[in-house]
Amino acid sequence: MNSPEFGDMSAEEFRRVGHELIDWIAGYFDSIESLPVLAAIEPGDLKAQLPPTPPERGESMEKIVEDLDRLIVPALTHWSHPSFFAYFATSTSAPGILGELLSAAFDNKAMLWRTSPASTELEEVTLDWLRQMMGLDPGMLGIIYDTASVSSLHAIAAAREGVERRIREEGMSGRPDLPLLRVYVSEQSHSSIEKAVITLGLGQRGLRKIPTDREFRMDARALAAAVEEDKRNGYLPFCVVATVGTTSTSSIDPVPEIVPICEEHAMWLHVDAAYAGSAAVVPEFRHILDGCERADSLVTNPHKWLFTPFDLSVLYCRHMDLLKRAFSLVPEYLRTPEQEKVRNGSDYGIQLGRRFRALKLWMVMRYFGHEGLAARIREHCRLARLFAAWVDESPDWELLAPVPLALICFRACPKAEVDLDALNEAIMHGVNASGRALLSHTRLNDKLTLRLSIGNIRTTERHVRQVWDLLNEQLRSAV
Ligand code: PLP
Repeated sequence: MNSPEFGDMSAEEFRRVGHELIDWIAGYFDSIESLPVLAAIEPGDLKAQLPPTPPERGESMEKIVEDLDRLIVPALTHWSHPSFFAYFATSTSAPGILGELLSAAFDNKAMLWRTSPASTELEEVTLDWLRQMMGLDPGMLGIIYDTASVSSLHAIAAAREGVERRIREEGMSGRPDLPLLRVYVSEQSHSSIEKAVITLGLGQRGLRKIPTDREFRMDARALAAAVEEDKRNGYLPFCVVATVGTTSTSSIDPVPEIVPICEEHAMWLHVDAAYAGSAAVVPEFRHILDGCERADSLVTNPHKWLFTPFDLSVLYCRHMDLLKRAFSLVPEYLRTPEQEKVRNGSDYGIQLGRRFRALKLWMVMRYFGHEGLAARIREHCRLARLFAAWVDESPDWELLAPVPLALICFRACPKAEVDLDALNEAIMHGVNASGRALLSHTRLNDKLTLRLSIGNIRTTERHVRQVWDLLNEQLRSAV
């Protein structure tokens, strides 16, 4: 059936196609293991198969869905595949998908409380539930953004507002009265912080990278020395970003040692727990957030390890007033009588309209419950310890970093005289090209390092054994 002349698809057609598509999604998950994890196409392959001009007349949903199977699926890298172990392995879940579907149906733009009271209030409540699950301080209020990159950018903007140098009003350029403002991160911090610093006009010179210890954690003494030195040079240290769960190794910066340095120098402490924050819902891992009760802000990504479809990042902040001061700008057409009594989302960020993201998180949290979420994350960490033990016990492999959570950094190191970087690169490409699993890499102490991240809701011990066998097969064929 082609589209009607006016108006939307009929309710009858929507019901029929909608049911078929839900069936399609269920079938996709049922058969996902038969698909190659990494899209087996070359750059440009999909574009070459798509018409270069838009359709003149509407087409039937049947025809569109046919193309989904024929063109789109082969061009997907399957993040929901249980053998996806690259980057930070993350996955959606059925309740999350249904939440996303509903949010598209409601299509609310939560810029003001009144344009979506449900979104605004559900967000506040859901984020308070998550705060409790993670054992964070009640003084931390949450707000949802799309990604951790954007959450951290907002946190640093609030920190900059807190320096009271009228930057909002007068900007930073052409101001001889303004010293160099400095943000501190470890050498292992995520590139999103540097991008935020660039975006906020602080310049790359405004970011100082602090060395890490042998376990890839920020060296707190080096941080203290750097701040002292910068102050002697007339700079204005104003923000430290500590990482709980770094991208390369999931190392955890010593927040309890960083807090007093921030307090002594009146610097804002932002914690990037984009990946590892979710692990704090497991009571025995809550200690990873030790010290964060004294942080000014913290970002965690339910879209990473809390089975919530991309995108949903949460910024917890102790100073919502500063975030609002940094971003609120209310033109006449957005003034409402209740504005003093409610939270208007657009006051707290760059965006005006905001998606109804809380719905999917609310559905995930209610469906699995605190215990269910904790059990899944705990199991991922058990599987990671198991894999790490195999690596450790094998004479052909070695661990290159501690395994505090569910990420293993390792490499092949057979006795034979070989270039280990080239060997490990070949092993990784072999595994990835097989389509049976996907790994990614990093560089640690100048060694090419393989990363195996376990975080997908469908991953079981069988998948972890399979990738271990696959790695050993590749090693045997490479030496
Ligand atoms: N911070 C850390 C520690 C990360 O590992 C990542 C991504 O992996 C990010 C920030 C950026 O996340 P996002 O894609 O949500 O911006």
